[in-house]
Amino acid sequence: MEQIPVSNLEEIQNFKGKYPKQLWYLFFSEMWERFCFYGMRGMLVVFMVSHLGMNEKVANLQYGATQAWVYAFTFIGGLFADKILGLRKSLFWGGILMIVGSVILSIDPKNFFFIGLGFTIVGTGFFKPNISSMVGQLYRNDDPRRDAGFSFFYMGVNLGALIGGYICIAVAEGSMWQSLVPEHLRWNVGFGFAAVVMIISLLTFTQTQKSLGPIGLTPLPDFEKSKRRLWEILTYVGSLLIVPIIIIMVANTEYTDYFMMVIGPASVLYLFYEMKNFSTVENKKLLAALIFIIFSIFFWAFFEQSGGSLSLYAANNLSHDVLGVPLSPNGVNNSANSLFVIGFAAVVGLVWLWMAKRKIEPNTVVKFGLGFLFLAVGFYIFYYTKFFANEQGITSLGVFTFGWFVITFGELCLSPIGMSAMTKLSPQKTQAVIMGMWFLASAYGQYFAGLLGANIAEASENATNLEKLVVYADGYKQLGIYALIAGIVLILISPLVKKLMQDVK
Ligand code: GLN
Repeated sequence: MEQIPVSNLEEIQNFKGKYPKQLWYLFFSEMWERFCFYGMRGMLVVFMVSHLGMNEKVANLQYGATQAWVYAFTFIGGLFADKILGLRKSLFWGGILMIVGSVILSIDPKNFFFIGLGFTIVGTGFFKPNISSMVGQLYRNDDPRRDAGFSFFYMGVNLGALIGGYICIAVAEGSMWQSLVPEHLRWNVGFGFAAVVMIISLLTFTQTQKSLGPIGLTPLPDFEKSKRRLWEILTYVGSLLIVPIIIIMVANTEYTDYFMMVIGPASVLYLFYEMKNFSTVENKKLLAALIFIIFSIFFWAFFEQSGGSLSLYAANNLSHDVLGVPLSPNGVNNSANSLFVIGFAAVVGLVWLWMAKRKIEPNTVVKFGLGFLFLAVGFYIFYYTKFFANEQGITSLGVFTFGWFVITFGELCLSPIGMSAMTKLSPQKTQAVIMGMWFLASAYGQYFAGLLGANIAEASENATNLEKLVVYADGYKQLGIYALIAGIVLILISPLVKKLMQDVK
């Protein structure tokens, strides 16, 4: 591999053109990591039901707990990155744990299922928020190219999600490469894929990290080397000791309920405690970040219906073709969004740049508000599928797909922009924690999505397929109305939030 010269921060941030070259390296590391993550995500519930003999309700609850933990752990991963390891070592350690987790799963998924999962959860916590924080540091605070950079990075996220999400489960279920992979090894190979791509992710990072100059190095430069080393080793050992605890929490979902009640308020209290160290100017920005984080919980709670109630809606009530092309409704529900992100992230990024040049780019609060308005329209379209239903309660997959198309623009106004805003609004010292809190909001989103989905499902018990369709569709109309209200509230409070954000756009 070609030797990349070490650069200083100014040199990195003064890059020419649309994107810094380091963004490409982080793009690919994150792409492979998301391949691993979404690859596994796609296999979990199916494996739990088909090989671990769980009933669907238990599998769904444990899956929800896994997802909530993954994102909740990003807060803890961010905290240790800020205080002890630095972004780079955290990312590396997280990658190693993810590899260990997926190797364990590939060796014997049936007997070591929860052990492998435990490692993967903790590993993702150390990896995921910190790579996003590094993207933020490639840009000067006032660089208008930052949001476009995050949109591009987000494309890497979804490219990995799309390919991994499809390939791992397709091989494991035997719908791909049947003749190459013996039947009794299919699941091992599916999980093994995740391990291999995670190794590629880590190698991509280690081979290119020199180009990051000072970005992500230790937060304790003034400590004696041996003392720093001790703290680092304690962090590594501590994170290994947490794995068995996570395993117990995931296997007993009621413990996860308690944890979710505590971690959010605790993280907010911690943020307030941290605020003591910062100036009023910095603290106002942190408050603005907190407002974004709280709104994003609602967004993800609706959006993440995709893994829950929308997948049941897809299975029961959607046709098997889009404009005459035969397609699996669940496949579409799982992947259409990633595909649209890949198709349109760069376009949306360029639109922001184009608007910035003409000084008409909406600021982050308005973009967030727009995100909710798109979400509202998308859910209204899901509701509207009801008017295309036949007597058997089967409606148009095409119209449903259009709903995802619209929601994708909402996601692009909120998710990459939100990540970008977290890096702008937080002082360097607490950046990984803020990024961790951003993803913690996704943990709550996942958690509430399960509750919302369960409510909709409960209301449609013992109903005919057509009645079910009506209950689900009406549920989506309700969610659409809530999203609309959230969008309007955000736009109404935008002057206040803008004030808190001060010079940040
Ligand atoms: N799909 C995005 C990712 O995996 C965002 C996930 C989230 O924040 N809920 O990075």
